[in-house]
Amino acid sequence: STFLANMSHEIRTPMNAVIGMSELLLNTPLNKEQKEFSQIIRNSGDNLLMLINDILDFSKIEAGKLDLEYEPFNLHKCVERSLDLVLPKANEQGVNLAYFIDFKTPIHILSDVTRLQQVLINLLSNAVKFTKKGEVYVSVNARPIFEDDNIQIGEKPIPDYEIAIAVKDSGIGIPKDRVKILFDAFSQVDNSTTRKYGGTGLGLASTKQLVELMDGRIWVDSEVGTGSTFNFTVKVKSVNQ
Ligand code: ADP
Repeated sequence: STFLANMSHEIRTPMNAVIGMSELLLNTPLNKEQKEFSQIIRNSGDNLLMLINDILDFSKIEAGKLDLEYEPFNLHKCVERSLDLVLPKANEQGVNLAYFIDFKTPIHILSDVTRLQQVLINLLSNAVKFTKKGEVYVSVNARPIFEDDNIQIGEKPIPDYEIAIAVKDSGIGIPKDRVKILFDAFSQVDNSTTRKYGGTGLGLASTKQLVELMDGRIWVDSEVGTGSTFNFTVKVKSVNQ
């Protein structure tokens, strides 16, 4: 992980300079052609940086170099914060955001808040990105688990709840034959998706890895033209506050 961490710094620093300088260049007097070229440099820089971040994240998880950090946090707040982050984009597109948390869901849990939020944000940004009208709806449920044969390994706490989260959208949907490869790396539905919506096709692959690190699974139900529901589970330990 040290190698990757160093490499990520070495790559990100010049990329940030390219993006920052093209931004400054755009604020100087330029003729039409120069302005167009500078904009291409900046947009390509943004895209490249996004790809680099995704690849570094992905390879770090793939190499088993990502350790979860367990701490107590408020699950309800974690869901609300994730929704807040996609709210501006949703508003811009006129898409409603709503959520429901079942009363049996523990409020305070022991898990990795950063990683759980990353999963939620990835699914929520996709849901908003691929929905032109209607709603994105998050529901949270929980069931108690009793695994007395569960052996505690190292720092990992013994879970007592399985949290099930669904992110439902009324967007473009995903064709049946694409669903099974959706969680593979670089699996954009087609090349025109990249041109129209951007993205690297690594989001869901990383998301799946993170969910599995949290002892859960992820699957999708989708219908073209109607929308998609991404479901995932994670095992957590409830804490009394
Ligand atoms: P990207 O970073 O390109 O969005 P993802 O792995 O997150 O990569 O998604 C891969 C592809 O799956 C997307 O390009 C899109 O074609 C499809 N997809 C993901 N989420 C949705 C969704 N909620 N609705 C429709 N298509 C989706």
